[in-house]
Amino acid sequence: MQNISAIKASITKLCSHYPEEYWRKLDKINGYPSEFVEEMNKEGFLSCLIPEEFGGSGLGLIEATAILEEVSFNGCNAGACHAQMYVMASILKYGTYQQKKQYLPRISSGELRLQSFGITEPDSGTDTTNLKTTAKKLGNDYILNGKKVWISRVEHSDLMVLLARTKAKDDCSKKTDGLSAFIIDLKKAVGNGLTIKPIDTMINHHSCELFLDDLVVSSENLLGDENDGFKVVLDAMNAERILIASECIGDARYFIKKATDYASNRIVFDRPIGANQGVSFPLARAYANMVAAKLLVEKAATLFDANEHCGAEANMCKLLASEVSWFAGDTAMQTFGGFAFSKEYHIERKFRETRLYQIAPVSTNLILSYIAERELGLPRSF
Ligand SMILES: Cc1cc2nc3c(=O)[nH]c(=O)nc-3n(C[C@H](O)[C@H](O)[C@H](O)COP(=O)(O)OP(=O)(O)OC[C@H]3O[C@@H](n4cnc5c(N)ncnc54)[C@H](O)[C@@H]3O)c2cc1C
Repeated sequence: MQNISAIKASITKLCSHYPEEYWRKLDKINGYPSEFVEEMNKEGFLSCLIPEEFGGSGLGLIEATAILEEVSFNGCNAGACHAQMYVMASILKYGTYQQKKQYLPRISSGELRLQSFGITEPDSGTDTTNLKTTAKKLGNDYILNGKKVWISRVEHSDLMVLLARTKAKDDCSKKTDGLSAFIIDLKKAVGNGLTIKPIDTMINHHSCELFLDDLVVSSENLLGDENDGFKVVLDAMNAERILIASECIGDARYFIKKATDYASNRIVFDRPIGANQGVSFPLARAYANMVAAKLLVEKAATLFDANEHCGAEANMCKLLASEVSWFAGDTAMQTFGGFAFSKEYHIERKFRETRLYQIAPVSTNLILSYIAERELGLPRSF
């Protein structure tokens, strides 16, 4: 816990160099917070999960959640850099020693960014195992063809972990078979079989469409076993859900603090608006829900770090945390009244940003169907 407090204090100091006005300006021009990401890297936060032998600090997901929660609480947008932590989970668990030696020290030093996770496709969406991008073995290489959508930060990354089909679906005995994960060297790939097209979005998240047209990837970049890639990305997906839940907790704390301060100082009808229970009760409810969701985030991260099954907890903490951050955001909007709509108060930017997390990385309905089926034993709906 001492460690966590020290981490939080360092993050607060770092974030003070990037006030909300910095994020507002970037939001306006769809700019990438390069200085922020570089400083996060320089201070070792983005390589916190990398073992010390490869230049990282060898911490666990529990520390990583503390980092992202505090970044979000301080008004910054952790979405600009969070992927390096969760995509890392695949390389740490399934990368060969050679792959780790090749990439991890350079990621730790900040020379390489691992900021992209290429899963979603336009024609399969949430139905990941139905993805259409193919990787065909040719000699010592794989030839990749297909389309991806919503792949974030790809223009600001050097590496991406991508999932593609290596065995026809009809030849597989299980839905999750026949997929393989690859480490893509983006700097080599762009213009040589990979085309990137940015998507104009409601938040500043740098998401893109990808077009793969005979992209050549060496078999040395296969991550884990051929046809077993779903398992490889699953660890990253669980880490992603837990880390994003921690960002939602940070967002919820941000909204509650901002709204509480405002409600204490804004005088209407000759008294602070926070003296009205219609204003204070939703804030109190948001606080209670946030504290409960945070406990589940901590439980999920602890299970992940102990290498135990954490699928249910990862999904449930993402569900609850994304709902509480949205509720806290909505409550902050109501508390600020008309001023919530002024960009100068920053609430509306965070409100837009936190809405994403009920849709990505996995939508609320899909989590509910996971819980219904896996935890409650109800029949599969799809
Ligand atoms: C800003 C942004 C950034 C993203 N970044 C990345 C990224 O970096 N990498 C990446 O791989 N992906 C990324 N995504 C994709 C994201 O993970 C998907 O958008 C999300 O998983 C939902 O998939 P979809 O958009 O295709 O929705 P669809 O699958 O088309 O679903 C649409 C709606 O229908 C519901 N639905 C679908 N099927 C069912 C069912 N059987 N039962 C009940 N409800 C159902 C869903 O819950 C959802 O609400 C990003 C998305 C956004 C918006």
